This record gives sequence, structure tokens and C-alpha cells, in this order.
Amino acid sequence: MKPILPANMHMRPGEHPGAVDHVKMQHQAQGIQPADHTQAGSTAMPPEIAQRLQQAQGGHPSHHPGSAPAEHPMMDYKADDVHHSPFLIFYETTRACDLVCQHCRACAQSKAHPNQLSTEASKAMIDELAKFPKKPLLVMTGGDPLKRPDIYELIRHGKSKGMRIAMTPSATPLVTAESIADLRDAGVSRMAISLDGADAKTHDAFRGIDGIFERTLRIIDDTHAAGLPMQINTTITKRNFDQVDAIAELINRPGVVLWSVFFLVPVGRGLREQGIEPGQYEKVFAKLWQHAQTKNYGVKTTEAHHYRRFVLQQKGDPQANPAALAGKPKVQRAPIGISDGKGVMFISHVGDMYPSGFLPINCGHFPDQSPVDVYQNNETFKSLRNPDGFTGKCSVCEYRKVCGGSRARAYAVTRNPLASEPDCVYIPKAWNHR
Ligand code: SF4
Ligand code: SF4
Repeated sequence: MKPILPANMHMRPGEHPGAVDHVKMQHQAQGIQPADHTQAGSTAMPPEIAQRLQQAQGGHPSHHPGSAPAEHPMMDYKADDVHHSPFLIFYETTRACDLVCQHCRACAQSKAHPNQLSTEASKAMIDELAKFPKKPLLVMTGGDPLKRPDIYELIRHGKSKGMRIAMTPSATPLVTAESIADLRDAGVSRMAISLDGADAKTHDAFRGIDGIFERTLRIIDDTHAAGLPMQINTTITKRNFDQVDAIAELINRPGVVLWSVFFLVPVGRGLREQGIEPGQYEKVFAKLWQHAQTKNYGVKTTEAHHYRRFVLQQKGDPQANPAALAGKPKVQRAPIGISDGKGVMFISHVGDMYPSGFLPINCGHFPDQSPVDVYQNNETFKSLRNPDGFTGKCSVCEYRKVCGGSRARAYAVTRNPLASEPDCVYIPKAWNHR
């Protein structure tokens, strides 16, 4: 199934073309003011922000279990590399999955699509990915990648091509201590699993099946026992908005190296009504920043890049080391400005190519086109890497190169991937003074 716009994706009244004006008026009514460290009317990045960003990106190779090994080409990835090579490639190996999560982007089904890329086609596609000037981190995702009997073969193939490979299995009985060890032995270097609630009731309601919460905790511990670092993915919605702190405590356990906090984009089975309000993002950001400074894992956001703006406003470093590594060399993280199509690419189970899994603009198809050519030359990809070409307040925001807003949410709400982030309360001074 292609990640085309689902039937339930509608524009809300007044969102397009006047969505940004609507947000601006709403913010002014709420008395929300921009930070005061910018020059009135200036769209340039203030020097102190630029300096902190430089510090944030000037890290050294480290021995953190969740970072790239020092000898890996990914360690050389610089901010400018986004123009020729993605930092992350998500390969949706299949749409088959035995769970029925409420907000599933992929509208996953129990059986694989008949046009899913074959083993040989998948290998040929991986061969192409290895041709990027900087080899990306390949994330085997789905659906549930463990529903593919050939997944170990694909991992071994990617590894043989010099790729670093991560995997995001679904929390089903297919994930056992043995299968985790097999994945590790095949070449997986990091695992990621979803946890959307601090208790069984909340998490299992998300996932649609009882018992997933306990299994997820067991998978986290089994992954640690296998010596693999674990990333926790959490989707914030109205249902778990009040559980952020409790989830943060729950995952502060051995082996967890990164908390990736995703903010709902209304695609697939995700509905806009399930998402939180713009003002609530700032409250969640404040909590995340607090945990980023005190827990043993790093914190990043997905499809809420304005967390970077929030942290910089607090005079912090969005890519700070976890508390456990304070004073040690900086952990290698993705360059701070990456977002949909800008350091990120998504390839679907049938070979369609997108700027991300949440931005359903089909930009090409493998094997008709090479992923390298599509990433480097497709006009949609190029426009997403040029924040000066955005519209609305993001186009003049001093944080546009490090944030730029969620292009996926902009598209989901306005049908324009270059429109302003609909869920950011910040008003750039240059926009305020128009
Ligand atoms: S585990 Fe992932 S792929 Fe499976 S239904 Fe849930 S969100 Fe979709
Ligand atoms: S206005 Fe846009 S670029 Fe600026 S912080 Fe908000 S989302 Fe980011």
C-alpha cells in the first residue's frame, strides 16, 4: 500500500491558504511573544545562536554505545552533506505487521503487499544506497521488518556494502532473545522500539492488543542483554500528553541511549484531532529539555523541529550529551538541521521514494530511478533543503536553518510542503514587524 494521502485527511476550515495568518492571530491573542535575543526585523541568525550551533556540531568521535563507531564514514557527515547524501534512509521493508496501532502511518496489514520489493530488488536498491557520497545510516522499518523471512539476508547484504544498520521491529512474539541475537549477528547495530504509555493500559490501548506493554519492556531488557543499544520511540498525542515525565522515568534503564519523541502528523491512521495543541508542544519541550539534562539517554524530537528552537532559547545545546556522559567527548548525533528531504529519505515497500515516511509526495520509484538521483536532483527534495524558499513565518524565522518546522505537518494541514509549521507558537520578529 502506497503512503498516499488517506481518505480521512482534510483541511480544517480556515487552514489554507490563511493558516499562518490564523496561527499568528491566535498567538497574538494569547500574548505569546518571541524571544528577545534577536534584532527587530532581522531574518539573520543571531551570532550567539550561530555560536552555540557551531559548538553543538563540533563534536568528536566518542565511545557512547549509541553513537556511530569512529571508523564509520557516517562520522564524517557534516551539515552541508545534506545536499548530496541523506544521513538517514528509512527502508520500509514491508507493510505486514501483526499489530493494529491507532496512529499507524503505514496503515499496516497482516499480509505483505504482492508488489513488495523482492529479495533481489531490495538488494539492488541497497547497492544503490551504498553509492551516496556519504553512506547513510539505513533504518530497516515497516510494518514489521521481522515479517520478512529474508530480513537477515538483507541486513547482511547492507552490512557487506559498508552500511550501518538500525532496525525497528514491532513488539510481537517474533522478537525474542534469540531473534535479537540473530539480528545483532547479521549486522544490526541499533534497535528501536515504540513505547507510547507509562502503563499497560495506555500503551496497549495505542497498540490495539493487550500485553504489548510488558513485552516491550522485556524487549528493551533483552536488547541490552544482547549488547545492542536501544532507542525508544514515543508518539505524543492527547492520550499520553500527561505521561511525559512518567515515560521518561520508565525508560531510564540500562541500554536505552536515545529517546526519540514523535509528534503526530495526520497521515495514515493518525488523525489531526489526536494531536496536541501548539501551546502544549512548548510544555512538552520544557519537560524533554529537563530530562535531556538529567537522564542517561539523549533526547531528540521527530516532526517537531521547533524543539531545537526551544532549547536554543533556553541557551542550551539541542544535541547535548546525556547526563551520564557529562564532561566526556560529545556524542555523534545527526546534524542539527536535518528534516524531511534534508538529510532524510524514505523508500517504501514497493520502491516509491519520499522525503520522509510522513510526507506523502512521491518523488520517484525504484528500480526506474536511482535513489541517489532522486535525492540529489528531484525538485521537491531540493526545495525542502532551501528554507529561504518556505512561505509564511518559517521563511523569515532566524531559526529556519536549524528548525524549519515539520514539512510533513505543513503538507498534511495545508497541502503545501513549504508552508509554515502549523503547530509552532513562535513568531519571528521579522514576521511580527511586517
Ligand atoms: S507496530 Fe508499527 S507498523 Fe505495526 S501497526 Fe503499529 S505503528 Fe503500524
Ligand atoms: S517559526 Fe518555523 S522555523 Fe521558526 S521556530 Fe517556528 S517552526 Fe521553526
